[in-house]
Amino acid sequence: MKHADIKNVLSNADMVGSDVVVCGWVRTFRDSAQVAFLELSDGSSFCKLQVVIDKGALSVDAEATKLGASVAVKGKVVKAYKGEGNELNASEVVLLGKCPAEYPIQKKRTTLDFLRTIPHLRLRTNTFQAVFRVRSVAAQAIHRYFHEHGYYYINAPLITASDCEGAGEMFRVTTQPWNASYKTAEDYFKEDFFGVKAGLSVSGQLEGEVAATALGKIYTFGPSFRAENSNTKRHLAEFWHVEPEVAFAELPDVIEIAEDMLKYLVKAVLEECPEEMKFFDTFMEKGLIEKLTHVANSDFAVCSYTEAIAILEKENARFEFPVHWGSDLQSEHEKYLTEQVFKRPVFVTNYPKEIKSFYMKQNPDGKTVAATDLLVPGIGEIIGGSEREADLSKLQAAMSERGMDRSAYKQYLDLRRFGTVPHGGFGLGFERFVMYCTGVENIRDVTLFPRSVKNIM
Ligand code: ATP
Ligand code: MN
Repeated sequence: MKHADIKNVLSNADMVGSDVVVCGWVRTFRDSAQVAFLELSDGSSFCKLQVVIDKGALSVDAEATKLGASVAVKGKVVKAYKGEGNELNASEVVLLGKCPAEYPIQKKRTTLDFLRTIPHLRLRTNTFQAVFRVRSVAAQAIHRYFHEHGYYYINAPLITASDCEGAGEMFRVTTQPWNASYKTAEDYFKEDFFGVKAGLSVSGQLEGEVAATALGKIYTFGPSFRAENSNTKRHLAEFWHVEPEVAFAELPDVIEIAEDMLKYLVKAVLEECPEEMKFFDTFMEKGLIEKLTHVANSDFAVCSYTEAIAILEKENARFEFPVHWGSDLQSEHEKYLTEQVFKRPVFVTNYPKEIKSFYMKQNPDGKTVAATDLLVPGIGEIIGGSEREADLSKLQAAMSERGMDRSAYKQYLDLRRFGTVPHGGFGLGFERFVMYCTGVENIRDVTLFPRSVKNIM
């Protein structure tokens, strides 16, 4: 059906006077003696198009005026009678699809909890349309940022045989059920599709390192899977993961890239989604625009893990899990640091090696690794990164300490054997970034069909 986008009809002054067809869903209908008004949304813009119906000249099927009905409207674009932009004087209203009264998206503010039970319809609301427009703009900005900065876009495999971050978190990929004829797990996996135990990747990093140690600067942007058995507001079983990996980069470079990228993305969202951001500032998080504008224009804090623990230890009375040097930081500690102490994004650096992954570069102190997490107010960790261990023998030692099977990592070790270089990178949780930009508090509300424990609607 040839038709114009509402976004264009609304805002393009050149269209005034022309005859167009628009298509969309009815958001509101107001009736008076001589005229009636239909508000239409087609998803192209935050603002709806007002369709003016001269009742003397045009009679409209009552079904075409019901909330949620889909219609095509032919008419002339005119300057809006009130306010800015254009509206449409209808000459014909065609009903495309009826929408009976049990339509669950009714005008009175429906709660996010309720809308989560109808993921297939919740995108018809202002909130979700705004979230997904921001999400789309942010995704484009990610590609643009890396492209403009000379990175190559790599697609890492999603099915993998290496269990990078640790057992338990990986979903298995298999084509065969277990049966009693398999005596051992090895027996069983030998018969399976790949001949070995396989799973869904928790990160594209290992493959990212392969690419970075040849192409220099690369990034991946794709799904990662984690069998997180936790029902938090910031974890999903399937999330999108932005993972740059850079050759010749040390920890300070990794931090600089992460900060620069994040600011770029925040600016892009503020500039390209003004209507949406105004909406979120009003209904989701008061002061959101000001907060993000500040983030985009001021320096992030940097604080070592050791300093962070010294700060937190003084406040141990307030935490559910008191900390000491060596503890992993929980969400409550992360939030306290970024919200109460630094009041802005903060990179925590140089964590104890025991609580971080085997591949992180070991610092000369023998106790810490060159890792960094970026913590932001409202969410906690949004980025996790590190300089990678580039020294073959140190990497082998770290794997042995953890009881890892080195033979499974031959390729990874080869990168240190043949022309090793300092390198590093990080992972940004894309949904967490969208939460941060929109003020949406639950990760399930920035994801089309969220997957989490016992939830695969
Ligand atoms: P957390 O401590 O919050 O569980 P993590 O340390 O396990 O995160 P990393 O392995 O460092 O996470 O992954 C890099 C980034 O990916 C995180 O900073 C976060 O933004 C995002 N991320 C990790 N796990 C999830 C998840 N289950 N759902 C959504 N995003 C995630
Ligand atoms: Mn992390």
